[in-house]
Amino acid sequence: QSHSFASVYDIINHTTSLIKTVIRKDQIKFQIRLEEALPDIKCRSQQIQQVLMNLLTNARDALNEKYPGYHEDKVMSLACRQFENDGRRWLKITIEDHGSGIPPELQSKIFEPFFSTKPKDIGTGLGLSISYGIVKEHHGDLSFDTDLGKMTRFVLDLPVDNGWR
Ligand code: ADP
Ligand code: MG
Repeated sequence: QSHSFASVYDIINHTTSLIKTVIRKDQIKFQIRLEEALPDIKCRSQQIQQVLMNLLTNARDALNEKYPGYHEDKVMSLACRQFENDGRRWLKITIEDHGSGIPPELQSKIFEPFFSTKPKDIGTGLGLSISYGIVKEHHGDLSFDTDLGKMTRFVLDLPVDNGWR
């Protein structure tokens, strides 16, 4: 797949409409907050869509899990804004869920290929490792913070122009 400048709104709308059909029966409240006037970004848009879909699917799974402290009030969100760092423009996409959280002893393992805490028919354990690879190819960064039994937040930073020719 070749790269070009793509609309962030198109990328996000495509992915959120997919996940909305997936979560239709889950009674999850899904909030989307997109800053206005976001720039087009240089990327392989299908790959970025794949990353967002992986993160949103993980958020959904975390909300559906019956973890200690589980509550019926299921909320997840996606937000996107732009910022400047070292004279370059970046996008920050945040995907957050108020679900199971990630136990401290597992936090260093979640980006490893085939690491999964889910039943085999749900998770292959490849989502985050593939996502991390895609983000690094785009010269971006993927990080997270989490609070066990409360929430997890993944933060995707992408340069608007990653320098690809
Ligand atoms: P999979 O979803 O197939 O298990 P991933 O690579 O997407 O594989 O995620 C690896 C593991 O990281 C998951 O099995 C889960 O234990 C943990 N994880 C990822 N995202 C979240 C999240 N939002 N909340 C809680 N745990 C998560
Ligand atoms: Mg996954």
